[in-house]
Amino acid sequence: MQPLLENFARQHGLLPAWVVLSLFIAVRYIVPAGIAYLIFYVWKRRDWWRNKIQQKLPKGSDLRREIVHSLMTSGIFALMAFGIFALRKMGYGALYFDIDERGWFYFFFSTALAIFLHDTYFYWTHRLMHHPRLFPIFHKVHHLSHNPTPFAAFSFHPLEAVVEFGIIPILAIFMPLHSIALLIVTVWSMIFNVLGHTGYEFSPSGFTSHWFFKWINTPTHHNMHHQKANHNFSLYFNFWDRIMGTNNPEYDNYFEQIKNRT
Ligand SMILES: [Zn+2]
Ligand SMILES: [Zn+2]
Repeated sequence: MQPLLENFARQHGLLPAWVVLSLFIAVRYIVPAGIAYLIFYVWKRRDWWRNKIQQKLPKGSDLRREIVHSLMTSGIFALMAFGIFALRKMGYGALYFDIDERGWFYFFFSTALAIFLHDTYFYWTHRLMHHPRLFPIFHKVHHLSHNPTPFAAFSFHPLEAVVEFGIIPILAIFMPLHSIALLIVTVWSMIFNVLGHTGYEFSPSGFTSHWFFKWINTPTHHNMHHQKANHNFSLYFNFWDRIMGTNNPEYDNYFEQIKNRT
């Protein structure tokens, strides 16, 4: 990706290269979010309605706001990706491209570790952004969606977009990661994020109290955060909310209420 963009920037200038990368990132968001929206809110809406966490549809104005902010986020992410390319040119960065350099065990281990580190980074930056002084500046835009759709996945204020992307330079600079491992982390993040904002719950009854699965977050978990913002700050896993006592005490009950709908 980087050599292609560098060539393009050399021929056409930095601004067109930024536009191209922004569009690429925007398409990578619009396609999965759009597919999820068409499936959950158009095609299967009636059949799956009992799995809809909040039994009401989002407003058209919510959708438009989520899409506009997500497109702005794509532009910010592209700008920050340029920053990473520039740092790599200057010799900073631990990305590698040959699996044999560190072997397959390290490949899988580092991918899992990067996902765990992202989860930790997200929890703590998210809690910080809920500080009363920081919330209106960074995080209020995301919370304008009280009944989120898949399009809310990237719906951030530009400053929050900078914070959300912040894990990527940290990983790319400090942790030796294969380029495919970094791709897996970003694709996993996108899929989980879109599913977490679908507004539908398909995990089976008992999921949130199961000895293993209770450690994995459900769409209900994040949907509750959009309804009441004082609990449920974690992203992929339920470690930090459980350790820090910030899980919504009603989480299990609310989840089972959705599952027991007739
Ligand atoms: Zn959200
Ligand atoms: Zn929040």
